[in-house]
Amino acid sequence: MGEERERVPYVLDFYPLQTEEDTRIHQFFQNLKEGRLTTTKCRACGEILWQPRVVCPHCNADEMDWIDLPKQGEIYAFTSVLLGAPKGMEDETPFVVGIVKLKGMDLKVLARVDGVRYDDLRIGQAVKLKVHALDDGRVWFRFQA
Ligand SMILES: [Zn+2]
Repeated sequence: MGEERERVPYVLDFYPLQTEEDTRIHQFFQNLKEGRLTTTKCRACGEILWQPRVVCPHCNADEMDWIDLPKQGEIYAFTSVLLGAPKGMEDETPFVVGIVKLKGMDLKVLARVDGVRYDDLRIGQAVKLKVHALDDGRVWFRFQA
């Protein structure tokens, strides 16, 4: 797309707008473009928040630090999307969506899992972070089996 990219209303688009003018968590997307999965940690109470937030739901503080999350994880649960895929993914069904437990943390992340068919995936299977680049310059995270 050109410079004046179409700005699809958020509700119609699975992928959030990601620039500094669009969102206060733009740093998340910048880090992701560098291959880093990151989130916010509350400076006041120390809670690690997922997904990244600008205000802590535990103590209402709004000073956050960005921390790197593990790029490795294991499948905690998974399913397959056969119908009703989000906009832009209609032609990619069937695909796998999983809950991934990040290595060494008590944090589980929901994401697409690429590189494996539903029938071949197993609970506990190792997966690694994959940055999915969209044609319009945005990014999102997935895991690769
Ligand atoms: Zn807090």
